[in-house]
Amino acid sequence: MTRFQAKLSGIVGNVWPPMVTGLPASLAALMHQLEETQWLPADEIVQHQHQQLIKVATHAAMHSPYFGSRLQAAGVRPDQLSDLEGLRSIPVMVRRELQSAGEDLFCTQLPQAHAPVEISQSSGSIGEPVVVKRTAINHLFWLAITLREHLWHQRDFLGKLAVIRVNYPVGNSENLDSWGAPVSLFFNTGSSHAMRITVDVGQQAEWLEDIDPDYLLTYPTSLAALLQQFERRGTKLPRLRQVRSIGETLASGIREATRKSLGVEIADTYSSQEVGPIALQCPESGMYHIMSESLIVEVLDEHDEPCPPGQVGRVVMTDLHNFATPLIRYDIGDYAEAGAACPCGRGLPTLNRIVGRERNMLLLPDGRRHWPLVGAYHYRDIAPIRQYQVIQRNREMIEVRLVSDMPLTDVQETRLKQIVHESLGFPFQLQFVYFSGEIPRGPGGKFEEFICEAK
Ligand SMILES: [Zn+2]
Repeated sequence: MTRFQAKLSGIVGNVWPPMVTGLPASLAALMHQLEETQWLPADEIVQHQHQQLIKVATHAAMHSPYFGSRLQAAGVRPDQLSDLEGLRSIPVMVRRELQSAGEDLFCTQLPQAHAPVEISQSSGSIGEPVVVKRTAINHLFWLAITLREHLWHQRDFLGKLAVIRVNYPVGNSENLDSWGAPVSLFFNTGSSHAMRITVDVGQQAEWLEDIDPDYLLTYPTSLAALLQQFERRGTKLPRLRQVRSIGETLASGIREATRKSLGVEIADTYSSQEVGPIALQCPESGMYHIMSESLIVEVLDEHDEPCPPGQVGRVVMTDLHNFATPLIRYDIGDYAEAGAACPCGRGLPTLNRIVGRERNMLLLPDGRRHWPLVGAYHYRDIAPIRQYQVIQRNREMIEVRLVSDMPLTDVQETRLKQIVHESLGFPFQLQFVYFSGEIPRGPGGKFEEFICEAK
């Protein structure tokens, strides 16, 4: 078990034992709590969650017109939410309902300790934004869970950190002398280096070779593109110890490819704009532990029944600490595979894997949906394809977008068609569209390998 031990003092003249004040003090206190709570038995965690749920639901019933009428319509009182059965009597709220609730969703009052609020706007799947107000307490949890993730993986904070992200930095790249908050609030750290994700991948690889980082933080699709670069250049990052992936679903195959090209493992974080960090990868088992101190996460089948371990279902969230925006049984639009208790001994429940979003599922002409198997590495066996994206335009037609070093020959196109048909499991009409440079990212900078526009 990793102890959380603040090394820096926030008080002039004090070095030992280190003392902190203000936000770092609240964060340190929460970290100590989280160190204990993760080891509680699962059923005890559930009891605590429901005590917290009653608090947030009582507040929301009073101050959110939308949630108040929703509870009333369901015939539920907040004090009846003391167990999962009670929670399950509230209907699931889907993204569209959250969008159309508008201002009525937000609480008109906020306990003072939860202020100020921040607006978190996520670009919706088809460009419709979802607006959620998040509080100072939500922010504190975000910081604490970020720290928890570092501590679980026992990172050497004195190492160099390289970050490739969407909205950061302002210019193309930036060098900082620390890792920044929350780590640098408590620990001495090495330097950090940031690059914008929109910079050409070849340039990103060169930049990383120059920095030679100990840790790399980026999006799975950006990582996949980098792996191809390193393979092509025949280079590695000699000091690299681990890749941290965020922001998108980690497609199967990227872990193996990272092991092969860079010789390191990936630590993935599952999070969303609306609720922040949802689950962290266990350092021992690799399963994703749900952040139960901050959320109740249900995985539901098509009849809204809980999925047993090993089954894939819709992810439904309840944010236990958001007193500004009641997200209580919110269907976030993701699919995940429910997991069993983790052998590491933590009582935090698990997900085996995050599968993706509904809009990333293939729609067959007969109305059935399934997850498409699109694997870049097979495509590269046929032609020098650098990037691809598959878009289902309707139930019959699929557009295959490609960035290739050279135009494909007829033979290569025919072979590729066969592979796409095999992986989709149906002989769709295929249209190849070639891009030079890079296939544009979607709103919010996310890149999706497969998008279904068909209805
Ligand atoms: Zn575990």
